Amino acid sequence: VAKDDAQHRIKTFEPVMLYKRQLRREMAAELRQAVAQNQLLLEYQPVVELATGHLQGVEALVRWNHPTRGLLKPDAFIPLAEETGLIEEISRWVLRAALDQLACWRLLPAQPEQLKLQINLAAAELQSMDLVDYVRRTLRDSGIPAASLVLEITETAFVTGGEVETYSLKSLQALGVGLEIDDFGTGYSSISYLRRLPVDTVKVDRSLIADIDDDDGQLRFVEAVHRLIHAAGMEAVFEGIETAEQAWQLRKMGCCSGQGYYFSRPITAAQVTALLEEGRPLPA
Ligand code: C2E
Ligand code: MG
Ligand code: MG
Ligand code: MG
Repeated sequence: VAKDDAQHRIKTFEPVMLYKRQLRREMAAELRQAVAQNQLLLEYQPVVELATGHLQGVEALVRWNHPTRGLLKPDAFIPLAEETGLIEEISRWVLRAALDQLACWRLLPAQPEQLKLQINLAAAELQSMDLVDYVRRTLRDSGIPAASLVLEITETAFVTGGEVETYSLKSLQALGVGLEIDDFGTGYSSISYLRRLPVDTVKVDRSLIADIDDDDGQLRFVEAVHRLIHAAGMEAVFEGIETAEQAWQLRKMGCCSGQGYYFSRPITAAQVTALLEEGRPLPA
């Protein structure tokens, strides 16, 4: 009976699986063309000083303007890019395009020299032997000082890293590039690594602060996380701030930096330019 069941299951699921596999193969082939055909684009989400709403930096977020499927978010293609090895080409495009954009912004009369640029790095990127060289070259080509660039890496990538990853992190740090743990609090890692990683900033995942406006226990927990990050000698950035109440609670805790729809959604480069030209802080 069990065997019949299994066979039955295979028969009914097969077409769906085949279809999915086919779809993935198509997507992979299309993604391979995406860079060459100029289908990737960047949006930028402001990181602000919580007390004032002043722009401290922008995080580059990649999108794929797919010819038939419309504008795709990274969750729809970054995993595929990682599986197929296309992530390296995409990452490099992102880094170059974002640094070139920052170079343009630095030419504005407002001279936002302090403006930082956050870029997301896939875990696999740290395994690439010439990542550090590429970062160094791209910084030089764009004329951007290393200190203006911050690379965001998820905690799992930091923690499960072997020798190559550690080498990459140390070399990037030696270059003067800022390193940031992204989505902190979502992985399964122990917290002891916080003290030994070459990291300056920790970006706390938005799931941690989602309920702080009506859950006292969660609020106290986030306070403790904030203190923990400071105790490890790092700065905290809170992502996913959606309400005035959340912003206020975090400010009251003494948090400096934040990011979220409450301040701004990801916006186009032109919209960032407008913000810089106005020089007006975002509503805080
Ligand atoms: P992330 O680095 O944690 O980026 C934050 C994500 O949360 C962004 O989604 C952003 O739009 C969203 N977000 C920001 N504020 C809020 C908020 O207040 N509420 C809610 N609900 N969401 C908010 P997005 O753009 O879809 O990016 C998703 C993830 O894709 C990023 O997470 C990042 O891990 C990855 N990613 C984005 N760009 C790149 C890239 O160039 N390279 C690589 N390797 N990964 C990227
Ligand atoms: Mg990020
Ligand atoms: Mg994040
Ligand atoms: Mg996140």
